[in-house]
Amino acid sequence: MTAQIIDGNALAKQIRAEVAGRTEALKARGIQPRLAIVLVGEDPASQVYVKHKAADSEQTGLLATLERYPATMTEDELLTRIRALNAEPSVHGILVQLPLPRHMDSHKVIETIAPAKDVDGFHIASAGALMVGQPGFWPCTPYGCLKMLDAIGYELKGKHAVVIGRSNIVGKPMALMLLGRDATVTITHSRTTDLKALTLQADVVVAAVGKRNVLTADMVKPGAVVIDVGMNRNEEGKLCGDVDFEAVKQVAGWITPVPGGVGPMTRAMLLVNTIEAAERVAGRPA
Ligand code: NAP
Repeated sequence: MTAQIIDGNALAKQIRAEVAGRTEALKARGIQPRLAIVLVGEDPASQVYVKHKAADSEQTGLLATLERYPATMTEDELLTRIRALNAEPSVHGILVQLPLPRHMDSHKVIETIAPAKDVDGFHIASAGALMVGQPGFWPCTPYGCLKMLDAIGYELKGKHAVVIGRSNIVGKPMALMLLGRDATVTITHSRTTDLKALTLQADVVVAAVGKRNVLTADMVKPGAVVIDVGMNRNEEGKLCGDVDFEAVKQVAGWITPVPGGVGPMTRAMLLVNTIEAAERVAGRPA
């Protein structure tokens, strides 16, 4: 069996088109959805990420304002700027690019963002809303993974999903989203004693570790859906995931590639959260 590929680029394109439509509808009502992106410091990867996020926004008609500050900015200055953005009615979403310079407490910074504008979904209020099943903003990466499962029409109810990784931004929210769809969820991590025994039982595996070949073909149940969140570099410096893609493709039913899988979906879901934030403020038309 060769797995079917879940094409994150194609799905993200479709989602961007949907966001563009929703943006047009708001603009027709005189509302310009706006995302404020804040970058502190000169981290090269962050520079690329924010540029992409701004370009994606502009492409869908969202107004993205990118604010760059030097690494010498103090935490107080950043908190003051965030509070100003919270109070600015024309701003619907606020994204502070992580990581922040070492002298800043990123938890404190994220907690300063108004939950109604927390389009990254990292605020404790957003995490709490996800936990209790109330409306909030879902972190973009696991939200994108869920959209990929929806896109293939996968019914999660009663299925066993194994999430590898328990970070606050991917593993844990992913597990909650799967649980919310009535899957039976196992969360695994670096102290899990027999990962293979668990993944072999899984109908769905989400790998979010950041290490190459965490999931190999002998660990996958035939026909399972494999979602690869990992972003690593191989010996040649090429981007690759956590999954041994070529070998697992021969066993799985569905698989996401790296690149071209979860990455573009993460970017697309930021746009979804931003338009959602603007619509919540504007009120949906009757
Ligand atoms: P993280 O905070 O470093 O968490 C990694 C998780 O993996 C931890 O829970 C860790 O367990 C677990 N782990 C480590 N070694 C393991 C092993 N051998 N077996 C099982 N679990 C193991 O990373 P993250 O932020 O969640 O990101 C994970 C990966 O996804 C990274 O490669 C990151 O670059 C990528 N990522 C991609 C996107 C995207 O858009 N494509 C977005 C976000 C992240 P402990 O908790 O016990 O340490």
